[in-house]
Amino acid sequence: MPGASDLFNEEQRQAIVKAIAVAERATSGEIRVHIEDHSKGDALTRAKYHFHGLKMDRTALANGVLIYLAVKDHTFAIIGDKGINEKVPADFWDTIKNKMEAAFREGRFTEGLCEGIAMAGEKLKEHFPAASGDKDELSNEVSFNR
Ligand code: CA
Ligand code: CA
Repeated sequence: MPGASDLFNEEQRQAIVKAIAVAERATSGEIRVHIEDHSKGDALTRAKYHFHGLKMDRTALANGVLIYLAVKDHTFAIIGDKGINEKVPADFWDTIKNKMEAAFREGRFTEGLCEGIAMAGEKLKEHFPAASGDKDELSNEVSFNR
């Protein structure tokens, strides 16, 4: 099983960054992808830890979304800030997660991530359409730690 930073080659990493940039054109929401080998504790708890660590809880509209993957544990989670969670139905993240899971099972990690990002963007724009002068509040780069 490849580790966090070598699961994606440069081209694939760029594809993910581009998917985030495209999604963020339509919404003021901020999407990030964070990848590590192992999750300390369950993926959801760990995602919350990184959400805070990446300062994703500081967006103006509280509309950051983190897709977190622990690649060697074969687990992942998607979480959003309170601004989103107040507005969306309870199954908002599950729909995206299920779609990504299907791709991951087939070994299509980059495609699965890009699909998840696009779906998150589609849904975010309904509640948080892009406004003029919208800033890129959080980097679109994929972040890693081991
Ligand atoms: Ca933005
Ligand atoms: Ca961004």
